Amino acid sequence: MRYQRPKGTADILPGESQHWQYVETVARQVFNKYRFEEIRTPLFENFEVFSRTSGDTSDIVTKEMYDFKDKGDRHISLRPEGTAGVVRAFVENKLYGPEVQKPFKTYYIGPMYRYERPQSGRQREFHQMGIEAFGSDEPALDVEVIAVGMDLFKHFGISNLRLAINTLGDKETRDNYRQALIDYLEPHYDELSEDSQIRLHKNPLRVLDSKDKKDKQFVADAPSILDYLTPEAKAHFDQVKSLLSAIGIDYVVDSTMVRGLDYYNHTIFEIMVDSKALGHGYTTVCAGGRYNGLVEELGGPEVSGVGFGLGMERLILLMEAEGVKFPEEHHLDAYVVGIGDEANAPTLKVVQALRQQEYSADRDYLARKPKAQFKTADRLSAAYTLTLGEKELTTNTIHVKNMNSGNEVSAPLDDVMTDFASVIKNID
Ligand code: ATP
Ligand code: MG
Repeated sequence: MRYQRPKGTADILPGESQHWQYVETVARQVFNKYRFEEIRTPLFENFEVFSRTSGDTSDIVTKEMYDFKDKGDRHISLRPEGTAGVVRAFVENKLYGPEVQKPFKTYYIGPMYRYERPQSGRQREFHQMGIEAFGSDEPALDVEVIAVGMDLFKHFGISNLRLAINTLGDKETRDNYRQALIDYLEPHYDELSEDSQIRLHKNPLRVLDSKDKKDKQFVADAPSILDYLTPEAKAHFDQVKSLLSAIGIDYVVDSTMVRGLDYYNHTIFEIMVDSKALGHGYTTVCAGGRYNGLVEELGGPEVSGVGFGLGMERLILLMEAEGVKFPEEHHLDAYVVGIGDEANAPTLKVVQALRQQEYSADRDYLARKPKAQFKTADRLSAAYTLTLGEKELTTNTIHVKNMNSGNEVSAPLDDVMTDFASVIKNID
């Protein structure tokens, strides 16, 4: 029997995993700069946490959820996205309480699960990072969240970005718009896709998000939500736009954008990139918005939130395709060559002593001949090569060579064991 990884999953191997580490490190720095702190929630939650928040008619809940009954007959889901679990934790741990600084700003990084058709940049186990900010209705907070997203891409070395924004307004806006959409789509009912027919009355906004070709032709001429905004909703959106301009963030308004999850209202946005790596035209890599009402939906008080999720597979594909320089993480300070059996234990002592001094150090474990060991030191780009041969062993010395300058020295073994820094100072 040969085992293969499940369809839609990936092994992130050494080499590649360094790219992931780099992305995570940079992201944490950016999040910290904006004072978002990390939250870690479970990979699985009660099914209802997602069905109540993503919406019964969303693709995620109807088609993509990994859900199952556990041995205690609980209905469990692997998380398809990060927000619902964060909101559940926010409510359960009463992070809306008076002792918590507001807005409460948090970020997450981790795997998500969706049963989808795998393709480039689309997997069944994939990774997202995202941020959430709770406890303020101010448009300035929407803009801060967008700014974090844009800043991230800047740090990742990605240009060719397009920020698309829209508003879904408040409840009154949506109710009015919903009716207008139904009135517009109903005459075309027979021509709509099966999914859209089902959604027409349950959740007509969903139809705008349809990827079906036929549906798309109706969406193009659909009424615009911007014509249905209440004065409050319009004021919020106007503020968002002027604050974005105030801090020099360019955007386009896309009035047909609705997002794949039901919980958004007011500002929604997508950061898109134009890169051949992800297919033709603009592809969304980061998406989010405001979700007033979600906290109440999961049993909490009336506290609003705003956040985004960013797909890491797509981001890393993109960075690799755009030729972003990843730092060389797997640096080797010292390779210790041992000659002959007698050198075995001393060599091990030296590498270990160097590691105790916080240098990265390695040696041979395959009984290679000296020539092959020196080759390995070269291949691993060791900064220093140390040699323990018969002569060194009898004189209690060790030969140290700076591979960059070519300078070398025969140093007392004790010095290398206790103070390598002072030894290499003389040959740098
Ligand atoms: P799409 O329309 O591409 O299916 P979505 O609307 O389902 O995206 P969101 O739920 O908003 O996506 O997730 C935010 C980001 O997570 C996406 O922009 C994308 O980069 C990433 N993402 C979503 N699903 C997957 C997946 N199956 N594999 C890899 N990345 C994904
Ligand atoms: Mg999707």
